[in-house]
This record gives sequence, structure tokens and C-alpha cells, in this order.
Amino acid sequence: ERVANPFAGADAYVNPEWAGDVRAQAAQTGGQLGQKMESVAQYPTAVWMDRIAAIEGPAGGMGLRDHLDAALEQQSGSTPMVVTVVVYNLPNRDCAALASNGELRIDQNGMQRYQQEYIDPIAEILGDPAYESLRIVAVIEPDSLPNLVTNVDGQFGTEDCREAAGPGGYVDGVRYALDNLQFENVYNYVDIGHSGWLGWPDTNFPQTVSLLTSTIRGTQAGVNSVSGFITNTANYTPTVEPFLTNPDLQVGGQPVRSAAFYEWNPRFAELGFAQALRTAFVNSGFPSDIGMLIDTSRNGWGGPDRPTSVSTSTNLNTYVDESRVDTRPHRGNWCNQAGAGIGERPRSAPAAGIDAYVWVKPPGESDGVSEGGIVDPDDPAKGFDRMCDPTWHNTWNPNVPTNALPNAPHAGRWFPEQFEMLVENAHPAL
Ligand code: BGC
Repeated sequence: ERVANPFAGADAYVNPEWAGDVRAQAAQTGGQLGQKMESVAQYPTAVWMDRIAAIEGPAGGMGLRDHLDAALEQQSGSTPMVVTVVVYNLPNRDCAALASNGELRIDQNGMQRYQQEYIDPIAEILGDPAYESLRIVAVIEPDSLPNLVTNVDGQFGTEDCREAAGPGGYVDGVRYALDNLQFENVYNYVDIGHSGWLGWPDTNFPQTVSLLTSTIRGTQAGVNSVSGFITNTANYTPTVEPFLTNPDLQVGGQPVRSAAFYEWNPRFAELGFAQALRTAFVNSGFPSDIGMLIDTSRNGWGGPDRPTSVSTSTNLNTYVDESRVDTRPHRGNWCNQAGAGIGERPRSAPAAGIDAYVWVKPPGESDGVSEGGIVDPDDPAKGFDRMCDPTWHNTWNPNVPTNALPNAPHAGRWFPEQFEMLVENAHPAL
């Protein structure tokens, strides 16, 4: 039976491979910290189909069918089971960065391969009647359409994104994925970046709504081909900034949003951003029962340095820097952020318009390798992006460090030091 919110009243699938990584580190660590780590292994995380070979699974590892079979086994009684699968393999993937570049290229027949070797086999599995009792949530192509909003033209535009904006690119790919993943028990949520990327009300925000709307309207089922949208996938932007709730508040004669950290963007956190997007999508013709997801796996920002009250400074930048829980030196910093912690635990219907807080990025898996010259044998397209280099600076502002952790392995690989930090800085605390 089709429901408005697939997470409501359901259990969610715990990926045994990820939980195994967590438990192994917990056992090795021992003590109180080990126990905290161990407690993380009970939570559901998404399964990433991050290359064609992930569908069958690597030798000795789990493929998509294995995960769905395991989900059926985890299902108890008549309680529905949700499995979240990330569809992440567009040609020219990760067009404005290098860390998660993919195996398909637009100029090497990438769209045909995406359709025939990637989406079609996924659709065949998800549509198998053996899995019809599962609620399958598909997260559609993180960062893809958002990259077309900000990284095609202008100073930060890239050749790969310009190509991805054309035929055989991201719009065609997202439409094909949506057209072919239409099943009674499959719920599609399209990725929508995060507030620190797309929150500006006169530029990026409306451009995002219009690009996503036109893309989805171009599918066979139009606005009915999605259940909603997801923000903050694999990012670090907090769900709320508890001490900075009014972007127009005047401090030292200036609005808070004009502080250096916010760059006039009034969207300080994900909850307000997601709710505002939902309203904008409904106003642009989407059904009023669409819902939003927020990836809270690493946006907790707890630990001993977390502010416990609002600053009393009358200097705007000091006020913002002393009050914000997000301690990144820049909101564009996306790679293995030092100081981050696990965020809200996954749960359904946590706030108006929000279908669930979910852990899409499995905590402990790297965002990208921190040094050059290392090849990932399973995924040789993955590259070294200097936003993952702790000795380098932010792409958009050379005076700002990347804040990335050292000794990081390639994107998706287990990163023990990061996992430990995320556990220690969890908020709510573990
Ligand atoms: C990587 C994927 C990985 C995913 C989850 C992405 O950044 O490119 O390979 O599966 O993160 O860790």
C-alpha cells in the first residue's frame, strides 16, 4: 500500500557491512568510548549504489539483492521495513570536484551506459515482486542538479559541469532514473544540496526550485514522480542553529545574515531551509503531500566547545562566531570536517513537512582522500580534491583553510579517526 510518508510507522534497514565496520572499531577501542561506538551500529544508514559493480556487489561483498534480502530478514511481523538506496552514478559525476568523480563520462557514451548498465538493472531488482513488502526509498543523485545551479557559469564554473548541463547530462539522467524507478513501493527523493549552498533568496534558491521543477515536470509522471526532496546529503550543515534564529536581527547596526560566515544568506540551518523549499515546491505545482528528508548523520557539532548560550558581543562577526554551533571556517567546506559530530538519530516525522531525519552518509566513511597519488583500485576515477587536503585552502576563499582531517582514505572508505571524532562530538550526545 502506497503511503504519504514511507518512514512513518516503519523500521529501517541496518546495513550489516557498515555496522560491521562500526563494531570492529568499537571492539578494538574498548572502554566507554568503545561502548558509545557500539551503540551507533544499531542505526539505519543508506546503501550507496556508487558504481555499476555495486549492483552485483564486489567479490565477497553485498550487492543490491543481498541488501534487500537482508532487509526482508530484518523485517519483523507486520511492521513495514524501509531500505534507503542512493542512486549515484551519473556521467560526469561530481562535476565541480574530484573526490567522487565517477566511472561514466558524457563524451564516452556515458548516458547510454548509465541507462542500460546502471538504472535498468537497478530497476529490475527494485521492481522484483520478491521485494514488494519493503518500502524502498531512492535518494536520487546527490549534488547533481545543485551543481548545475552554481557551477556551470561564472568564476567557479567547470568544463565538466557545462557538459553535464547539456544533452546526455544530469537532467536527462535524473529524468531517466525517475521514469524507471516508478513502482508502488519505491519512493523517490531528489537531492537538493543544503542551505549553505543554495539558500540565497534572490539567486540560488529560486533557481534551484525552477531547475528541479522543470526537470521533474519533464518526466512521464511529472510532479507525481517524486515523494519529495532531501537536503544535506553527506554534508555538515546543522539542522538548527539554536542561538542564531533571526537572520535579520541587528547586531552592531547590521543584520546577522551579513556576517562574514553567512555572506548575506538568511538560511542558517537545514530545517528552515527544507521547510521553505517544500513550500516553494508546492507553490510551483507539486502535490501538497510531498515531504522532505534531512541527512543528519554528521551535522551534530557537539562536544566540549559547543556554545551553550548566545554571544553578548556587539561586534557582528564575533557575535556570530561565538554563537554558531557549526564551527567550520566556511560553509562551503565539505570534506571530512574537523570538529563535526553525529547529528539527530534517524526518525520519522520529526517536524512539520519533514518525512524523516535519515543517515544517508554512513558515519565513518570518508568524503575524499587527503593526499595525492593514491589510487582506489575499485573506483579508479575517484580523485584527490584539494578541499580534502588539510594543508590547503577553501576553493572560494584563499584565506580560509579547508578544515579537512589528515590521513583520510578515498571517498566511501572507512576512516577510523573520523568515526571516533564523530562519536565523541555527537549531538545529541550518544
Ligand atoms: C563516495 C561513495 C560512497 C559514499 C558513501 C561518496 O562520497 O563517492 O563511493 O559510497 O560517499 O560513503
